[in-house]
Amino acid sequence: MTTTELYARALSLIPGGVNSPVRAMKAVGLETPIFAARGEGAYLEDVAGRRYLDWVLSWGPLIFGHADPETVDAVVEAARRGTTFGTATEAEVELAAEIVDAVPSVEMVRLVSSGTEAAMTALRLARAATGREPFVRFRGGYHGHADPFLSEAGSGVRTLGIEAGGEGRVVDYNDLEAVERAIEGAACVFVEPVAGNMGVVPPADGFLEGLRRLCDESGALLVFDEVITGFRVARGGAQERYGVLPDLTVLGKIVGGGLPLAAFGGSAELMERLAPAGDVYQAGTLSGNPLATAAGLSVLRRLTPEVYDELEAKGRRLDALGQFGRFERVGAMATLFVDDYPALFRHLLERGIYLAPSQNEAMFLSTVHGDEEIDRTIEAVADFFS
Ligand code: PMP
Repeated sequence: MTTTELYARALSLIPGGVNSPVRAMKAVGLETPIFAARGEGAYLEDVAGRRYLDWVLSWGPLIFGHADPETVDAVVEAARRGTTFGTATEAEVELAAEIVDAVPSVEMVRLVSSGTEAAMTALRLARAATGREPFVRFRGGYHGHADPFLSEAGSGVRTLGIEAGGEGRVVDYNDLEAVERAIEGAACVFVEPVAGNMGVVPPADGFLEGLRRLCDESGALLVFDEVITGFRVARGGAQERYGVLPDLTVLGKIVGGGLPLAAFGGSAELMERLAPAGDVYQAGTLSGNPLATAAGLSVLRRLTPEVYDELEAKGRRLDALGQFGRFERVGAMATLFVDDYPALFRHLLERGIYLAPSQNEAMFLSTVHGDEEIDRTIEAVADFFS
């Protein structure tokens, strides 16, 4: 089947032909999404045999690139012992220990299967712990697709211009005064500590500290959604990098090593409100899935300080993109903001370089992006502007 035929078939069977709206290419003026066939390192190959240098890397999980041999071995080995048990396992305890070791504010963690699930439950827990219903969040932030988070959200909601219902008092990112006006009586402030779903926007100096202070003064919990930033901007995420500790942390992407796994955690006191220790209900048939915990463990155990030094060095090389537009980067996440992003996207794709098909998303640097890949990307962008 050609890509066109495949897409036509997909359109007749799957709404919009894709299982997540961000995969559609309409926003960048292209008809068909990429139908991936395989990946290796920094490269993705589609069903037509076209090869792309991949800056999306499944939207962030693949810090060691596609089909990383150690991750694949760990998953295959786990699969031979059984793909799901629906019981407790040793690997999930080990993965919890890795997370608790890495993430400064997390003493206890629960594993779930998607960032959406983790964020949704973190909100439920914050509401139960404070006995309050309202919460504060930020315009252009994204915390998965649970109802309370959808209005004025980032990522695909913003790319498609969808106006959805939602809850929460929505204020501008980096606007502490607005938070101060909105926070009274709120259960929590829900924030991406480095915004990554309206393109990368770093926190202004003092913003995260200010959120911490306002939460402490008002009795609201501070929730960091570190689905993107966790294990990416530092091993311990943005809370390590900026030295501001939230009450609850939401994790996804890298923590699952490229398999469906996410997590949320916090102090033992808060987390023990969850059933069966406490009265806040949350559950999952595939939670702590053995393939996913094997992948997560394989990745997390290799995230040494050297990995972050390497990513930072690569990031500095990539900073040369700043000559072409506003370039925002925090560690291994970055966005180049340009006026005609769709045209740049198509220019690069024609040259075999795949950026996210929306400026609302980040470029994800990984250990598999070498100098050659970085320089080729810079040259191709320079060519677009020449
Ligand atoms: N929070 C953030 C910050 C995200 O970037 C995402 C997904 N990109 C989510 C939550 C939702 O995660 P998932 O897609 O796994 O449901």
